[in-house]
Amino acid sequence: MTQPLNDAPTYVGKCATCGLLVFAGVDRPDMARENAKEIANLIRDGHTVERTTAVWVREHSKWCRCNDKPAQPELLEAAVTP
Ligand SMILES: [Zn+2]
Repeated sequence: MTQPLNDAPTYVGKCATCGLLVFAGVDRPDMARENAKEIANLIRDGHTVERTTAVWVREHSKWCRCNDKPAQPELLEAAVTP
């Protein structure tokens, strides 16, 4: 770990309707493929994609329930665990 976890760059997707999170994935090489796939889906669905930090995700982790779409706990976990 050469970088404090809180500063880990993290992609988030925000719901176009309510503005809450629909996706969070830490930006690191072993997640790049998954992130790229998810981000492409988010953009296609009209959501907003931003690049922020893991600490931001922890402080703003309110998840969209508009479509009763399950959150992605495994990706959130990847964003907030070392
Ligand atoms: Zn929503």
